Order: sequence, then structure tokens, then C-alpha cells
Amino acid sequence: MDHFLYRGGTLYAEDVPVAEIAASVGTPFYVYSTATLERHFRLFDEALEGMDHLVCYAMKAASNQAILKTLAALGAGMDVVSGGEYMRARAAGVPGEKIVFSGVGKTKDEMRLALEGGIRQFNIESEPEMIALNAVALELGLRAPITVRVNPDVDAKTHAKIATGKSENKFGIPIARARAVYAEAAALPGLEVIGIDVHIGSQLTNLAPFAQAYAKVAELTEVLRADGHDIRRLDLGGGLGIPYTRSNTAPPLPTEYGAMIRETVGHLGCEIEIEPGRLIAGNAGLLVSEVIYVKSGEDRDFLILDAAMNDLIRPAMYDAWHDIIPVIEPQAGTAQQPYDIVGPICESGDTFARARMMPPLAAGDLVAFRSAGAYGAVMASEYNTRPLTPEVLVHGHQFAVIRTRPTFDEMINRDTIPEWL
Ligand SMILES: *Cc1c(COP(=O)(O)O)cnc(C)c1O
Repeated sequence: MDHFLYRGGTLYAEDVPVAEIAASVGTPFYVYSTATLERHFRLFDEALEGMDHLVCYAMKAASNQAILKTLAALGAGMDVVSGGEYMRARAAGVPGEKIVFSGVGKTKDEMRLALEGGIRQFNIESEPEMIALNAVALELGLRAPITVRVNPDVDAKTHAKIATGKSENKFGIPIARARAVYAEAAALPGLEVIGIDVHIGSQLTNLAPFAQAYAKVAELTEVLRADGHDIRRLDLGGGLGIPYTRSNTAPPLPTEYGAMIRETVGHLGCEIEIEPGRLIAGNAGLLVSEVIYVKSGEDRDFLILDAAMNDLIRPAMYDAWHDIIPVIEPQAGTAQQPYDIVGPICESGDTFARARMMPPLAAGDLVAFRSAGAYGAVMASEYNTRPLTPEVLVHGHQFAVIRTRPTFDEMINRDTIPEWL
């Protein structure tokens, strides 16, 4: 459920007509719904009620300061994957003790930043990383709280580019090596072993791979405890998928996910962390764009939009489907026709959809990409010197630009000219 619905024949974001935002901000732009963000966060929080837990929003999905503040106000922790994200979380007012640092290639500078600023835990992904963190912690006279990310070798049955829990992936350490790695960690005086971490992939639409992975983590918890490690926290990662189209069967709900967590690891008495990103932000955002031209081709018509692959790369990168809907609601019974929906960039990959059935559209009409809130704006670039897409946040009747569209001068002036030119 989200808060982007037609009312009186036009699309609204909560209580604001999308067309009104377009008139004020210009297209293309991203728009997020506060109520949807809040609803999704609460679904996870409530699904784990009764267990000691923290929902750490995986902010790489959508990391605007206003989004982080919205979630932080509800008590969200953050899962960060870079020094920049750590600084963004802190700037939004999230305390260090609610920030988890994930990622396979943390640099010593990033480790120092987080250790000095305060951190809940580092999720360690390799032995060299463990050794580096130990050195940085000792240098600062601190002990770094860690979990080790284990790779449970389960098939997440998702797109290859977002599967992370198979042994062939670069993530974590093989679960079979966990005892040796934990023994090594326990011997390093700059580290404090506090738990286990696992994350098997993104856009999972079935609970079975999660359940398999979590069962392996439960077993490992007992083994490591028997080895003398104080395993008191389990970070179970993110990855629960969202419905990208209304015609598909819906993925499991956070409540079902929570029940499965209780079943698989609930008996261990550990504090539970989860790191959802996509499910919190994905259906809380639209990308809104205007039709520039309708071009008749030999065997199909093209809708040429003012949004392009630089604004939303998911279709080009992951073959992702986004429902694309007209902002003016089509009259009941309007005949649909197939369009190839494309952007203006000179690459064939700049195609959002092929032969998509749409009501007839004309230049100047607005369309909205649904489910664009996660891995949308954060992956945008200025390819073709197209200004970075602005972001807007709606809250009831109010809306505010939360990231402005840069001017051409601002873009150009970021370049600097060497003295010999
Ligand atoms: C990307 C990522 C997440 C979030 O995944 P979603 O599919 O957006 O929920 C959580 N944890 C880690 C370690 C990640 O890399």
C-alpha cells in the first residue's frame, strides 16, 4: 500500500496533486510520501515487537537527509556502506550507537571516521579487513564492536546483480570457515566480537532462502557460543522484495518475515537487527516525467520522455520493470496501445519499457514511474550534462524540495581548469 492514488481524475501524492508539484519544480523529479515511508518502517518495527531489536534502514536505497530524518524520528537505526553515508546519517541526527557499518571494502580512513564518531558495530567481511580494523582501533585506543558477515551459500533466487549469499559472491566469509575466523578475531585486542551478520541479496520475493540462511546462522550461534564467544546480536540483513507491478503475486509481508525470524532465531535470546532498504523506500517514491515527443516508428510508437537512464538506471542495469502511469487518470474503458518508452540519451539502453500498453498520450502529458523510491535518485548521474534529478518530499498537504536541481553553471563550475590551459 502506498499514498499515490488518483483522486478526481488526477494523481495525488498524499494530499498534493502531482501536477501541482510538476508545475512548481519542473520535470523530471522524484517525489516521496512521508506517510508511506513511516508506514513501511513501522511494519518492520512492529513485526519484531517483543524481541529486543533495531531496524537499521539501509540508506543506500534513498539517502536524502529529509528521508533519513523522517525515519530517525521513528527510532530507526541506519545501515551505512561508506564514510559518506556515515556522515550523512550523523548529519541527519542519527547517533553513532544506532549506525551499523557494512560493506566489503571499508578503508582505514572510513574505519577511523566511524570509530571516532561512534558506531554500533562493524560488519566485517574478510580477514584482511579484520586485521586493518584491529590496527585502527588500537591506534585510537579503542575496541571496535564487530560481527562477521557469513556467507551461508544459499541461492536467493533473485537477479544475479543483487544476489550476495552464494559462495561465488564477493561478500562475507564462507560459513564453513566461521569458527576459525571468529577464533582469530577473538585474539585481536582491538576487536570485540558481539555477533553474527548475514545478508543474502536484494528483491527476494520468497521467504525460503531467508529461512535457510537464518537456520544456518542459528546453528552457528550455538557452535560459536560453545567455542566461548559471546554471541548476543544477530544482524539478519535486508533484502525483502517489493511488488514492482500490481499484476504479480505480492512478495511476503514484513509480518510474515518477522514471524519467520522468530521461528528461526527467536529462541537464542539475541538482539535482532534487520537492514531493510528497498521495502521502506521503494514504493514510497515516484519519478515524474513529461512526454517531450510522441514519435511514430515503422512498427511502433515511441514515447520520448524528459527522464532518462541517468535519472533512473534500474531498467537499463537490472532489466527492471516499473509500472508507468499517466498523471491524468484515463477514463474507464480507454483503449490502450503499445509504446516503447524511452529517454533522450543516445544509447539504446536508454529504454524504460518496450511495447508497454498505455492509454494514448501526447507531448506535454505527465507520467509517473511507480516504485522508484529505492535505488532511483541515489543512482542518478549527470550523464549528458543532464542536471541531477531533484527530490521532493510530501507530508499531507505540504510538499518541499529536498534536493534542488543544479543549474548549468553549478554543474560546469564543479570542473576546474589546470593552470596550463
Ligand atoms: C543493500 C543492502 C541492504 C538492503 O537491501 P534491500 O534489498 O534494499 O533491503 C542491507 N544490508 C546490506 C549489507 C546491503 O548491502
